[in-house]
Amino acid sequence: MSRVYNFSAGPAVLPEEVLREAADEMMDYRGCGMSVMEMSHRSKVYDDIIKTAEADLRSLLSIPNNYKVLFLQGGASQQFAMIPMNLMKNKVADYIVTGQWAKKAYQEAQIYGKANKIASSEDKTFSYIPDCSDLPISPDADYVYICENNTIYGTKYKTLPNTKGKDLVSDVSSCFLSEPMDVTKYGLVYGGVQKNIGPAGVVIVIIREDLITEDTLPGTPTMLKYKTHADADSLYNTPPAYGIYICGKVFKWIQKMGGLDAMKQHNEEKAKILYDFLDESVLFKGTVRREDRSLMNVPFITGNEELDAKFVKESKAAGFENLKGHRTVGGMRASIYNAMPTEGVKALVEFMKKFEMENK
Ligand SMILES: *Cc1c(COP(=O)(O)O)cnc(C)c1O
Repeated sequence: MSRVYNFSAGPAVLPEEVLREAADEMMDYRGCGMSVMEMSHRSKVYDDIIKTAEADLRSLLSIPNNYKVLFLQGGASQQFAMIPMNLMKNKVADYIVTGQWAKKAYQEAQIYGKANKIASSEDKTFSYIPDCSDLPISPDADYVYICENNTIYGTKYKTLPNTKGKDLVSDVSSCFLSEPMDVTKYGLVYGGVQKNIGPAGVVIVIIREDLITEDTLPGTPTMLKYKTHADADSLYNTPPAYGIYICGKVFKWIQKMGGLDAMKQHNEEKAKILYDFLDESVLFKGTVRREDRSLMNVPFITGNEELDAKFVKESKAAGFENLKGHRTVGGMRASIYNAMPTEGVKALVEFMKKFEMENK
C-alpha cells in the first residue's frame, strides 16, 4: 500500500486511522455479521451509530440544546435552495458574496425571493473579505448569508459580519471542525462533509429550533423542509448511512486529538509553514490578503502560467496530488485540512524550495 500526500480541496484527505478502522469493520461491523452499508437504518445498531455521531458533534462544538443537528443529503449545494425555501418568510435576504459558492447561493436565492448582494469582493478576484462591520442590512431581511471559508480563493472570515440583529446563516463546508466555533452566533450553520469530515453527499445542518417551522415557501417539497428531518431525528427516509458512520469516526478522531482547540493549534502550525515560505519565496506567492488567509485552502502562483503547469506536473510525479488550482482561477492550491499531517506540508515546502532553485 502506498499513500500520496493528497492536497485535494474536496473530496479530501481523511485520517488514516479512520480509514483503517472502517476497513477492519467492513465485512463484520462489531459482530453484526454485516457491513454498516448493508444494515437497516432502523436497526438498534445503526441507531446507536447516528446517535453517538450526533452526541460527539454536539460535545465537540458545545452545541446548545435549542439547536438541532441534522444529517442530510444533497451536499452543500442543496442548502442553497433549502435555506431560502425554509427561512425566507419575508422573501428578503442579504448575501455577502466572497466567492463562487456564496455567489451560487445568492443566485439560487433569487429564485425564491429578493436576494440582496450587500457586499462583495469580486472586484479583486475574491482575494479578500470585505469589511462587514457596518453593512446596509435590509430592515426586512430574513437572514444574512455568508460563506465563511472560501475554498476556491483561500479566504476566511476572521470576524463574523455585524448582522444588526438578523440571523446569520453560514456555509462552513471547508472550515468545519478546523477550529472552535460559537454556534450561538448563527441561526443556521451548515457544511458539506467531504472537505474535512467524511464522504461526499452528507451535509450537516445545525439550526436554531425556532427557525424550524411549517411555514415554508409554497411548493417546498417534504424532503426539503427542515421540520421533516428535525421531527424524525434525520431518519425520515434512509439517510446516507455509511457516510454518517464515517463522520462519526472522524468526530471520535478529533476528540482523541484533543478537540477543536488542539485542531486549531495544529492547523495554525501547519498553515504557518506554508505561508512563511510563500512570504519569503522569490518564485511563489500567495494570492490572498494576509489578514484574510484561510488555514485550510492555500492558493499560490508563480506568476507564469507555464511554470505553474510545470509545477503541478512535477509535484504530482513526486507524490503530491491535486495541487492544481480551481479550474476557474488557475495557479495552485494546497488544501491542508485537519487530516493533512504536518509532514505533508513540510515535504511540500521542501519540494517547492527545490523547484524554486531549479526554475528561478
Ligand atoms: C465544496 C463546497 C460546496 C459544494 O459542496 P457540494 O457538496 O459539492 O454541493 C459549497 N460550499 C463550499 C464552501 C464548498 O467548499
